[in-house]
Amino acid sequence: MASPTELRTSEALEVLRRVFGYDTFRGFQQDVVDHVVAGGDALVLMPTGGGKSLCYQIPALVRPGVAVVVSPLIALMQDQVDALTAVGVRAGFLNSTLDLDARRRVEAAFLAGELDLLYLAPEALGARGTVQLLDRGKIALFAIDEAHCVSQWGHDFRPDYLALSMLHERWPDVPRIALTATATSATRAEIATRLDLTGARHFVASFDRPNIQYRIVPKREPRKQLLSLLRDEHPGDAGIVYCLSRASVEKTAEFLTANGVAALPYHAGLDAATRAANQQRFLREDGLVMVATIAFGMGIDKPDVRFVAHLDLPKSVEGYYQETGRAGRDGLPSTAWLAYGLQDVVQQRKLIETSDGDAAHRRGLARHLDAMLALCETVRCRRAQLLEYFGEPATGPCGHCDTCLEPPESWDGTIAAQKLLSTVYRLDRERNQRFGAGHCIDILLGRRTEKVTQFGHDSLTVFGVGEDLREAEWRGVVRQLLAEGLLAVEGDYGTLVLTDTSAEVLGRRRTVMMRREPERPASTRSGRSRAATAVADLPPAAAPVFERLRAWRAAAAKEQGVPAY
Ligand code: ADP
Ligand code: MG
Repeated sequence: MASPTELRTSEALEVLRRVFGYDTFRGFQQDVVDHVVAGGDALVLMPTGGGKSLCYQIPALVRPGVAVVVSPLIALMQDQVDALTAVGVRAGFLNSTLDLDARRRVEAAFLAGELDLLYLAPEALGARGTVQLLDRGKIALFAIDEAHCVSQWGHDFRPDYLALSMLHERWPDVPRIALTATATSATRAEIATRLDLTGARHFVASFDRPNIQYRIVPKREPRKQLLSLLRDEHPGDAGIVYCLSRASVEKTAEFLTANGVAALPYHAGLDAATRAANQQRFLREDGLVMVATIAFGMGIDKPDVRFVAHLDLPKSVEGYYQETGRAGRDGLPSTAWLAYGLQDVVQQRKLIETSDGDAAHRRGLARHLDAMLALCETVRCRRAQLLEYFGEPATGPCGHCDTCLEPPESWDGTIAAQKLLSTVYRLDRERNQRFGAGHCIDILLGRRTEKVTQFGHDSLTVFGVGEDLREAEWRGVVRQLLAEGLLAVEGDYGTLVLTDTSAEVLGRRRTVMMRREPERPASTRSGRSRAATAVADLPPAAAPVFERLRAWRAAAAKEQGVPAY
């Protein structure tokens, strides 16, 4: 005779096939389902697109009662409910967008046992009426989606999530499952503590996304670089472009549109209706580019996002991973592209310096930024470094990120660093002045600009001592010194100042290895074949690899019966 677990297991598989139309579970979905069906608590960490929803949707159908799903994604609840309804699952939601009539109907369905799943906004659980309602029905389980919203570190923090620890006190016998795509062990521990899930079983998937090609390129004219990426590699593809500011979102969307790319803006400054409309279009239409701040993306289930581009530096590796993870959820080759330059480091350091919160908070922000900078400046495989950051065992080089394709040369930049640092030092000591990177570089290059002459900086001993390097290389030196904390920026103008560790370089007690700045590619493409320029910002040596990826993509598309692109 089959044991009860075996019975449930086959029932879960039955539901997967009959209701959702999939043949097999993915990864550890089945283990999670079995555990929750049997009444256990679970904490599930799975990358975006891994298939977290089924981990609670199937137990919702197998266990008696209604599964209550807490989700911050109010704008997506209607979609989620529609998708479930379409496959015959009885689902409803309660949030602030419902009018009284609609609310009454959902409540009545819940009480009559006519729902399998009830989605709730976190703030709804704070309302007494909701708690009383839940008390009068039978609850199969609680699912807490996007559970990292309970973490005060992330930019997705929702104070209402803190109150969710009461679920266990009030309904001690109802199993709870918390789900997130945020990977670090620190966040995981914070979720377990804050949600009172310390006894839960943890299910942690690998965060490797082998179909994503990671590329971090020197920022020159970011919008033009982006445009050539889209034209050369992603014509007609759907993708997301992240910008730091609303203004930059607007400008970039306009720029792309003016250049024949179908692009839509998304940021918190747009009214709710426009945001919702743009999001719907992005989800439903093919080949749209969403230009957005990080306000966009959480919970978006669009499988064929072919690229995620960052025009500004993310604040943390966690953020970078989450955002790039929205590419290639269908498993097909996709691009994660980031343009990064000196100004990004200056800007992010300044944002931290002027941020609210105490010194410990600022130190936390700086630590997160440092890890992101290390990823940008690394000469190692980007994918391997990402995985190690998330605590996964070291893997070999992936073979298709930018650093694998074109291993960056490193050079001993100690003398260059000394020249730059002593320029900052002399300006400060001899003239009691502070300047930004541009002016310091002008001095090193011996340029008699208006400002240089005005301040008499051509009489400094360091004037012209840096003529052995190009301007781009000097910007690279400044950027890498800032990234390593050997130099700092201050104030509204981002003036350069020395740090505690600068003296180690000036006193020759520390050598600084630097990443070589690539030569600027020829600005005109005429005369070069399309094949040779097919890969923006990558050397010709990379082209064959891309031909392979392209072939793979075309074959996969053919197999799935969708037109190749
Ligand atoms: P997550 O919440 O982890 O980001 P979702 O639950 O939204 O991911 O699932 C992502 C996509 O994967 C969905 O389109 C879903 O239908 C699909 N999916 C999930 N599990 C399976 C499975 N076992 N077989 C096939 N497709 C699946
Ligand atoms: Mg999800």
